[in-house]
Amino acid sequence: MSTAAAERLYERVRACDLCPLWKTRTNAVPGEGPIDAEVMFIGEAPGVNEDRQGRPFVGAAGQFLDELFAAAGLSRQGVYICNVLKCRPPANRDPMPGEIDACRDYLDEQIDIVDPLVIVTLGRFSMAKFFPNQTISRIHGQAREAAGRFYVPMYHPAAALHQGSLRQVILNDFAKLPALLERARKAEVRPAPPLPMALSEPPDSQPSPRSDSRPTDSPIADAPIEAAPPSHAEATEQPEPFAPETAAAGRPTQIRLFD
Ligand code: SF4
Repeated sequence: MSTAAAERLYERVRACDLCPLWKTRTNAVPGEGPIDAEVMFIGEAPGVNEDRQGRPFVGAAGQFLDELFAAAGLSRQGVYICNVLKCRPPANRDPMPGEIDACRDYLDEQIDIVDPLVIVTLGRFSMAKFFPNQTISRIHGQAREAAGRFYVPMYHPAAALHQGSLRQVILNDFAKLPALLERARKAEVRPAPPLPMALSEPPDSQPSPRSDSRPTDSPIADAPIEAAPPSHAEATEQPEPFAPETAAAGRPTQIRLFD
């Protein structure tokens, strides 16, 4: 995939009227970052500052995210950042299922274009794409591997702004990223075992996120990194599960990584 493909996608997002959020947005926020980034961060939806500037994570949560990048030896310029929704929900309310559904193809396309080694979900709604029916308080910071890519659910940085005790929890989760990225790089150069990979759900309901772009590594499949202790925050929250989905180009982008 090319930068031109990403630019074409961004133009489609900026002109999108597939869900009612186009009526209230100031700017759509497609996402940003190098299309060859090794790590992709997926948040939930633009907030007021993002809506004004057309860029992801530029408010207070974005400032904390920059701190988290630094703590993990990453930089904003070196990673790809986007959201489940590309337009701001009014009053920063939660994304609605119909909006997520309408916007899904854009995110799937971004994943295909960037083809990252590691996907970090930030918050409940991006977590639900890969970890349906899970609670973030239970699985945050625990990586799962599928088809040569690692998926790590993490709290949204804004959670630490509302609940100070989560700040260190999120920092601890981010601190695991350098070692995880190193494992992902090593996995990338290993020979690929035959597909399909052995995952925890039947193939028809749990497709691999990709079929041919990167060698897979079954020995590290389903091996969580150090489990983080559960937090009380969001313990009762349950994201709306996504239905199994397939990208427009026939490349599956949703998997179940936890039972
Ligand atoms: S949120 Fe997504 S689907 Fe809805 S108008 Fe914006 S770009 Fe289109």
